[in-house]
Amino acid sequence: MSFKPANNIQDLQYFGEFGGVNPSISDSSTYTFLSAKTMFDTFEGNAEGCYLYSRHSSPSNLYLGEALAAMEGTETANVSASGMGAITPVLMQLCGAGNHIVSSRTIYGGTYAFLKNFLPRFKIDTSFVDITKLEVVEAAITKNTKVLYCESVSNPLLEVADISALSKIAKKHNLKLVVDNTFSPLSISPAILGADVVIHSLTKFINGSSDTVGGVVCGTQEFINQLRNVNDGASMLLGSTMDSLRAASVLKNLRTLHIRMKQHSKNALFLAQKFESDDLKTVYPGLKSHPFHKLFKSMMHPDYGFGGMLTIDVGSSEKANELMELMQNKNLGYLAVSLGFYKTLFSSPGSSTSSEIPKEELEKIGLTDGLIRFSIGLDDDIERTYQMMHQCMIQLNILCK
Ligand SMILES: *Cc1c(COP(=O)(O)O)cnc(C)c1O
Repeated sequence: MSFKPANNIQDLQYFGEFGGVNPSISDSSTYTFLSAKTMFDTFEGNAEGCYLYSRHSSPSNLYLGEALAAMEGTETANVSASGMGAITPVLMQLCGAGNHIVSSRTIYGGTYAFLKNFLPRFKIDTSFVDITKLEVVEAAITKNTKVLYCESVSNPLLEVADISALSKIAKKHNLKLVVDNTFSPLSISPAILGADVVIHSLTKFINGSSDTVGGVVCGTQEFINQLRNVNDGASMLLGSTMDSLRAASVLKNLRTLHIRMKQHSKNALFLAQKFESDDLKTVYPGLKSHPFHKLFKSMMHPDYGFGGMLTIDVGSSEKANELMELMQNKNLGYLAVSLGFYKTLFSSPGSSTSSEIPKEELEKIGLTDGLIRFSIGLDDDIERTYQMMHQCMIQLNILCK
C-alpha cells in the first residue's frame, strides 16, 4: 500500500510567526480587516485565507485539521470541541426531516443515543443493523436513506467493518458512508478504502494524554465548507468549536501518535495472546480466533498493529468489578472510561459507556455483564504487567492455576 499516514503527518512543515519550530497559537476570537469589502467577501465565503471569527475557523485549528486530513488522506478537515461535536453536525448536515440512516448496531453509546433518542425529534430515523452482514445492510436501505454509518473497529465489541464493501453499497444507493475511526488511527485509513467522511474522537489515541476532549471531521473541501457555512452549516451554527490553545496542544501530541500506536498494539497483542492461552474469553482483532482478523489484516497498515483495545469476559459483573478494583489497587491501570492513555484503562461497558443501549439489545449483540474493555497502556515491561494481572485473576478465582 503506497499511502503512508504517518509520513503524511511528518511531511508537513509549519513555522511559528518568529521562526518557532511550532506554529504560533492564534489567541484571538476575532480578526481585523484592512477593508470593509474584504469583510463582506469573507462572510460570503469568497475570501480565501481570511479569518473572520474563531467559531468559523482559526489558524491553530486549521493547522491541526490539515495534519489530520493528511493522516486520513482527505482534502481537508474540521476540528471540533469533542468527538460528539464532530459526529452530530455531520449527521445533521447530511440529513433533514424525513431522511433515514442505516447504522451499525455496535457503536459508541453516545452516538447510539443521538441516533436513537435525539434525531427522531427532527424526523430522522435510524435502522440499526449488523454491519458485518452486507446483505442485511443493503436490505435496510430505503428511498429516504442518506447515510451509512459505522465504526472501523466497533466500541466495545471490536467488530470490524468491511469499508470497501460498504463503500460500494453506499455508492450504488447514492449514500454517504460515514466512518468513525477512533479505535484505529493510522492502522486503518477509511477514506482510502472508500469512506466519504471520516470522524475521530481526538480525546482518545490521537491526543493520547487524557487531558482534553476533541474531535475532527475529515472529508472533501466541499463538505467541510458546507459544515462551516455561516448561513446553514451545522458545525458553524451548532458551535462545537475547538479552542485554539487546545488545537495547538493536540497537534503536538499527534506527532508521537505513530510511536504510541505501535506500543499500544504490541502490548495489546501480547496480553491478548496470553489471556487466550489462559482460556479467558478474549476478543482482539490481532488474534487469529477473531472472526474479522483476516478482514482487519486486509485493510491495515501493518506497522501500527491491531490497536490497543481488547476485551475479556469474566462471567459476571461482580467478578468484573472485583477484578477491575484489584487491578487498580495494584496500580496496573485505572478503572475509568475512555481510551488511548499511557496507562491501561478498564471499564465494564454494560454498566458504563454502553449503558445507553437497552438491556435486550445488549444481550442480542453479545455485550455481556462480565465483559471488561481494556485500553492497553504504553507499559515498557508488558511481561511484568501480565504476570501481575495473572496473579489478580488467580486471587479472584477467575483463573485456577
Ligand atoms: C469517545 C468516542 C466518541 C465520542 O467522543 P467524545 O470526544 O467523548 O465526544 C465517539 N466515538 C467513539 C468510537 C468513541 O470512543
